Amino acid sequence: MSQDDLQRLQQLIGAGRFDEARALVQSLDRPEAAQLLALIDQMEQTARQAAASAPAAAGATPLVTLPSEEGDLLSRLEQEAAAEPAETPPQVTLPQASSKPPSGGKPPSGRKPPREEGGRRIHDEGTYQMLWDCQYCDTKKLLGTTHRFCPNCGAAQNPAARYFPAEGEYVAVEDHEYVGADKTCPSCNGLNSAKAEFCTACGAPLSEAAQAQTLGAQVRPEGQTFASSGSRDVVQERFDAEMERVGVRPKAEAGKGGMPRWLIAVIVLGVLVCIGALVSLFWTKDAPATLLAHSWQREVTIEQYGPQPGSAWCDSVPLGAYNLSRRQEVRSYRQIPDGEECETQRIDQGDGTFRQERVCHTVYRDEPVYDDKCYFTINTWSYARSVPASGESVNDAPYWPRVNLSCEGQASIGCERIGSRSETYLLHLRTGDGKDFQCGVSQADWQAAALESHWNVQVGVIDGSPRCDTLQPAG
Ligand SMILES: [Zn+2]
Ligand SMILES: [Zn+2]
Repeated sequence: MSQDDLQRLQQLIGAGRFDEARALVQSLDRPEAAQLLALIDQMEQTARQAAASAPAAAGATPLVTLPSEEGDLLSRLEQEAAAEPAETPPQVTLPQASSKPPSGGKPPSGRKPPREEGGRRIHDEGTYQMLWDCQYCDTKKLLGTTHRFCPNCGAAQNPAARYFPAEGEYVAVEDHEYVGADKTCPSCNGLNSAKAEFCTACGAPLSEAAQAQTLGAQVRPEGQTFASSGSRDVVQERFDAEMERVGVRPKAEAGKGGMPRWLIAVIVLGVLVCIGALVSLFWTKDAPATLLAHSWQREVTIEQYGPQPGSAWCDSVPLGAYNLSRRQEVRSYRQIPDGEECETQRIDQGDGTFRQERVCHTVYRDEPVYDDKCYFTINTWSYARSVPASGESVNDAPYWPRVNLSCEGQASIGCERIGSRSETYLLHLRTGDGKDFQCGVSQADWQAAALESHWNVQVGVIDGSPRCDTLQPAG
């Protein structure tokens, strides 16, 4: 029996198409045909019983278990097929570490140079087979691409059962051509390559087929090794997901992987404080007020010309600076490449393989750049004094204070000039419940406001302070 025939037979049995399997055995005209036909009968019976007893757990995949005697027959055929000279090399082999992954730390030798991606250098460390455990006969560590069917019972590989092997258990895939994640046949659940248009087991079109789900990428720092991501209990996972979906069980990670409680408390507190601040700012009520008095203040500041200390980078010292002294100071920082940091990641490609990559980026350190800083004296204008004037009534007309300037109009040491002017006009009011407050207004409004006149103002409900920008004459 050739390798192809044996694989076809396994596919048919794995897909639960026992009649076609029988036809295949009969067409082969082999001495052990009768034995094989009996075996197929027995498998069909087992599958029926299993489907009847646990239809939910097994899903659409026929549950097929082999009695050990007949299993021996299949494996004998398998060995025979492997010994036969065939065009294609034998595909059913036992898992064994045929190639060791490059150990962490050293870049792989003899491989193509790394590819650049967003400032990172990615070294290809090869493509390896995912592992899977047969959920029907419990055979462990089957290979993702070699064992598309369980070599023990013939069940089709379930892509949801794939897991990453431990480092050191890697089985390399040489010259792997990646065509995309596998597809699962919607009618027989058979596993198909991404480029297949029709199911290899049942011939159904695969345009609607679901893509095999992939595991999330795993990352490890330099110097550590990956452990196996662990064999997966597909039935339990599906059960858990279903329980979560219908809400019987709370989401497994909720609360656990989320934020710590104290952080939630801090955020809630922060939000409350913000709300409180907004409320005290915007929650106001109308309050009547009466004008009790006026007052005004004016002020003139005076600057004097004279020596002042100053500093600047020596390439931009202002004209007229004297008494220069210089010293070295840090002007900026330069980024100096300082080695690289790497981590290793492995990515489930969804076709029974994963690729491993070493991702490196350059780390930099800050190196100070020194320059000459100049300290000096320079003659310039600076604040010297201020002269105020004030009054207590509209009748006391506002005026600018008289100032006497030394040597006005000259820029020599000790001479003075007018700096800035400022003026405020205050209305002194009292609210209906006896609270006194002041509001600054324009000089015209101040002048026009009559004593004992009535006003309206918004007062904060929380802080009780009047909002002067809402002050309006009443009526
Ligand atoms: Zn199996
Ligand atoms: Zn199919």
